[in-house]
Amino acid sequence: MNASKLVILDRDGVINEDSDAYIKTPEEWRPLPGSAAAIARLNQAGYRVVVATNQSGLARGYFDQAGLDAIHRTMAAHLEHAGARLSGVYFCPHGPDDGCSCRKPAPGLINQIVAEYGEVTGVPMVGDSLRDLEAGVARGCRPVLVLTQPAGGPPSWGIRIRSVLFFVIYNAVGIVHGLNCLLIGWFLPARQRYRFVNIWTRFAMWLLERLNGVRVHVEGREHLQTGPMVIIANHQSSWETFYLQCLISPQATVLKRELLWLPFFGWGLALLNPIRIDRGKGRAALKAVLEQGAERLNDGIPVVIYPEGSRQEPGTLGHFNHGGSLLACRNKVPVVAISHNSGDCWPARSWLRFPGDIILRISPPINTHDKDAKTVTRLAEEWIFEHYPGELTKTPKA
Ligand SMILES: [Mg+2]
Ligand SMILES: [Zn+2]
Repeated sequence: MNASKLVILDRDGVINEDSDAYIKTPEEWRPLPGSAAAIARLNQAGYRVVVATNQSGLARGYFDQAGLDAIHRTMAAHLEHAGARLSGVYFCPHGPDDGCSCRKPAPGLINQIVAEYGEVTGVPMVGDSLRDLEAGVARGCRPVLVLTQPAGGPPSWGIRIRSVLFFVIYNAVGIVHGLNCLLIGWFLPARQRYRFVNIWTRFAMWLLERLNGVRVHVEGREHLQTGPMVIIANHQSSWETFYLQCLISPQATVLKRELLWLPFFGWGLALLNPIRIDRGKGRAALKAVLEQGAERLNDGIPVVIYPEGSRQEPGTLGHFNHGGSLLACRNKVPVVAISHNSGDCWPARSWLRFPGDIILRISPPINTHDKDAKTVTRLAEEWIFEHYPGELTKTPKA
């Protein structure tokens, strides 16, 4: 009999971050973003999920059976929190020189699963290394390779090649579309301009998902009613400037005027009538945000601002300036805060694009009527801090 509705997962690099230093304690077991939610979805769809994992750290004496049990209790608790459950964890305790039959790529662990669940022909075997897939293929599993990487290790060739491809295609299409914007875009009415420019933006996001395996999850979309508001988001990469462009359209983004001088890219951007500021001049920049921002809000257009100013490392929040809150308070429009982890997949100042999940959380509107700008900034900052998807390694400064 075939084990229907079964999925076999590797553990390290599939459910949790892998480490060249081994996962030796429950504290070192760090979930990969989205893995628990993915298992929960499989469970909901009626799939049983089992793990087959090499744990040579046992043979090497890095941890003992009680230690491994503790790690697996931590994993089970984390999964349970997301509504996910594993039906079994099969592990090989041996080292590479022990000549056992269960260390992947040997099929021993899969054989144990077959003994319990029946034949696994066609059952997905998800792993982050060739040996996981080989172990499964030996018993007829369908191999699924995930492109994660050991934390701190060099990116895999798969990730590098896909990142280069992304860079080339994205820029080539950007140049063509930049010309289109120059030739056609200027003659379109304002609302249609946004849609026209966003063709490229949408394409870039589609490419990022298909080519680089970056999935995007938006929570709280219902909080983005149309109408004037100030959106305050944390800033980790160019990704959010693109994605929010698709999500909130039309919008007026506050940006450095130098960006508009870029060939091709800048031409498209200029069409969207952004709020131009000169970052070098603090006072003048604030004045520009308040004046141009008020005009846009008067026209019913939301203003998007990144109060950290520059892009932060993933897992980090920078200092929030008050410009956006001040604009909202003066014009008596609500503030909506956005918290996301784009830097995990699209880090600033890097050409690498890492597969994974970007979670973008949108706050309920923060009323500004009875508050001062400082309070509004603090509330937005706290919301972003509390709803940050993943662990923050640095806390925001007061
Ligand atoms: Mg692995
Ligand atoms: Zn073994």
